[in-house]
Amino acid sequence: MRQTSRVLWIAGLLLSSFTSPGRAQVKVLGADERFKADILVVVAHPDDEGAVTPYLARAIYDLHKRVAVVYGTHGDSGGNNYGREHAAGLGDIREMEARESCARMGIKNVWFLDGKDTASQNVLNSLANWHHGASLERLVELVRLTRPDVIITSLPGVFIGENHGDHQAAGVLATEAFDLAGNVVAFPSQIAGASEHREIYLQNLQAWQVKKIYYWADANDDKQFSGTGPTYSIKEVSPTKKKPYWRIALDAATTHLTQYPADIERIQKMSDAEAEKMMSDPDAAWWTEPETLIFGKSYNVTKATDDVFANLEGEPNRCPELSPKVQGPSAAPTIKLGGPWGFYQSFREAHCLGSLHVANPPEIGVMAGAQVYVPLTIAHANGKAFKLQLKVEASKGWKVTSGEGEFALPAETTTELRVEIETPILTASELKASGAQEIVVHALADGVPAGDFKLRVQLRSHGLPQ
Ligand SMILES: [Zn+2]
Repeated sequence: MRQTSRVLWIAGLLLSSFTSPGRAQVKVLGADERFKADILVVVAHPDDEGAVTPYLARAIYDLHKRVAVVYGTHGDSGGNNYGREHAAGLGDIREMEARESCARMGIKNVWFLDGKDTASQNVLNSLANWHHGASLERLVELVRLTRPDVIITSLPGVFIGENHGDHQAAGVLATEAFDLAGNVVAFPSQIAGASEHREIYLQNLQAWQVKKIYYWADANDDKQFSGTGPTYSIKEVSPTKKKPYWRIALDAATTHLTQYPADIERIQKMSDAEAEKMMSDPDAAWWTEPETLIFGKSYNVTKATDDVFANLEGEPNRCPELSPKVQGPSAAPTIKLGGPWGFYQSFREAHCLGSLHVANPPEIGVMAGAQVYVPLTIAHANGKAFKLQLKVEASKGWKVTSGEGEFALPAETTTELRVEIETPILTASELKASGAQEIVVHALADGVPAGDFKLRVQLRSHGLPQ
């Protein structure tokens, strides 16, 4: 037998054994389509989904997109404004209120992480309270299960406003999950491949690259975000539901009775005309017209203001690889804001969020009479010990309680310090009249100027501690 015909004969034999009539074809199962989402919304608390429900109503009812929601906490802190239940009991109720709200929007796939409510504006407190690593692993799993093209979440950044650390934590985790879910070496037990029928450890999910991430902000000043992403009218009437998008969103929000029962009761008594009037009044409306989704980043080349579902395919967007590490030696001492601000600066670099809007100068709002602190990161020249002098300039009535003066810094690469300032207690009218005040920190390293920087602070009648 010649070599070629021998090869053909063996191939024929193999082929017939693969396709012999006695052998039934085995159907290989794909991913569970019931859980495929186009948009995954990642928020901190029950009722936070309401920040984007006008857009979600459009996406669900008129663009026929599938939406799933992940909550970071059950919302078990804070007051129960409706019943007597508190703590974990309140969390049980808020989970149901959130599920009912989502169901009214046609969203059935809803999960909760094990995060706890954190009464602080500091994202690092929230990440600690949510067991950052465990929450991230779970969120990556949910991204791989739901395979969304788009994530919508809260903005990781510090702004004068509610500036809830938990909101920021949801945005941090969602951004990290965006970058990790498609990484085949991240949480490998989730994507270990085919396993035995009664497998109990390995999940047989697959790595999944989300294409775009957008944010919403809880800052007081919405205008600063105009032009940072696509905008959608909340007043437009849904062709499918024959109602404005705000109306669909408002009806979905009325399940959150433990949070704002008086508002819900008032809204439910309103005629359509009265509700419409409320939504047209910028001071009373629940959403800004139009709604801006703040563009975070896209896997493929696209413009910030392009439609959410534009350019999901195409040329990959090359982001310069930046991996923030422990700071190397500097030639001269430098001083910058540390704490959450320092974290966010590195975070934006690490996650290719270079174009994300930041408050400049940095800012924060605190309750009048509360303490404000300025975290500092000081880089040493060549890791040498030196003498640092800090002088703080603040408005009349603001009292520096610690962190000012002369400090002998040890020989190391960076040192972290903090300046603490007691703010004055102001009357309601004084608060109304006072704008944001500036705290300026001047630094001298061995007698030589090493930089000044500012923090804008808005005093207000209430709010979370810094
Ligand atoms: Zn919230």
